[in-house]
Amino acid sequence: MSILEVKNLEKSFDNLQVLKDISLKADNGEIISLIGSSGSGKSTLLRCLNRLETVDSGEIIVDGDIMVSTLNGKSVYANETVLKNIRMKTGLVFQNFNLFPHYNVLRNITEAPIFAAGIPKEEAEKTAFELLDKLGLKDKAEAYPYQLSGGQSQRVSIARALALKPKVLFFDEPTSALDPELTGEVLKVIRSLTSLNMTMIIVTHEMDFARDISNRMIFMDQGVIVEDTTPAELFNSNNERTKAFLGKFH
Ligand code: ADP
Ligand code: MG
Repeated sequence: MSILEVKNLEKSFDNLQVLKDISLKADNGEIISLIGSSGSGKSTLLRCLNRLETVDSGEIIVDGDIMVSTLNGKSVYANETVLKNIRMKTGLVFQNFNLFPHYNVLRNITEAPIFAAGIPKEEAEKTAFELLDKLGLKDKAEAYPYQLSGGQSQRVSIARALALKPKVLFFDEPTSALDPELTGEVLKVIRSLTSLNMTMIIVTHEMDFARDISNRMIFMDQGVIVEDTTPAELFNSNNERTKAFLGKFH
């Protein structure tokens, strides 16, 4: 069964239609890269899937729970209990880390597990230390975000997302705010997560990385999904829009 299913999603900002009839499915453990030019709607799609934006119409189903569907032309969201259940199953890693500046690393990671998921503090901290260790940040538990490099900050925000043990983890250009020399360390961490059998949907412009780790790649252009296929097929595509986009990376 699909862990995530999106059907005929539509989203406009005022008169600008940003998502047009978007449908996709992700299976358990699948790694999907979402690529496309700036302004094609990638972030808006991830924001809709994480309820940071509301959709105009269409359906989103997470692990069998309907988050939103359309009834008589209007979108209808599930009740709070279902939405909370869904929120615990998904995580989002932002381009600009979005750490709490006034909390240290440990508290950044344990805040949601303790206060949103109700996990006992001791257990949440144990998990946090395990994650910090795994992500090469063992000595940073007491540090504050301003004391971290961009690469370290992004690894902390990945640890924070992992602390809730999501079934689906979304990344929105996780390395595009980083200097090239820090990009590698974050890509390496993301690559190391591929063994966890967690579904990952990654918006990225790192084409070699995407090609390498993805089971599927989805190319979006001007609010539509142009292609949804394997990396090998995408890079051999005959589609003019796909070729024009990929051509920019050579
Ligand atoms: P991408 O992430 O692919 O670069 P976005 O989803 O950020 O694309 O943006 C898609 C389009 O939607 C762009 O034209 C952008 O200006 C517009 N947009 C995004 N967010 C808003 C918003 N909150 N209000 C108005 N327009 C927006
Ligand atoms: Mg974006």
